[in-house]
Amino acid sequence: MRNEKLTKSIAEGRVDTLFRLAKSRTLANMATDRLSRRYIGIAESIISHYRVGRNTHIKMEVCKKCKSILVPGMNCSVRLASNTGYRVILCICGEEKHLFYR
Ligand SMILES: [Zn+2]
Repeated sequence: MRNEKLTKSIAEGRVDTLFRLAKSRTLANMATDRLSRRYIGIAESIISHYRVGRNTHIKMEVCKKCKSILVPGMNCSVRLASNTGYRVILCICGEEKHLFYR
């Protein structure tokens, strides 16, 4: 018998741990840290396999293209588009992320 709830809570815990490890590595080392990107890749495969709700941290703070954690002033720049009400986060790989505020 498979306990769906327990499986999902374990998966969410692992995603959280991987994200935390990746973030601390990104902050301690440089922007182009391969291990932290690997951690994010593993976390994303756990998310899709166990169908846990996509963690908001990962959605907001990870570049879709190069899988690096976005730290303003280090590997990305942030610009506010005031007429449309979203902020544009430009990663060093060239990928743009648009997040709405209010
Ligand atoms: Zn990127």
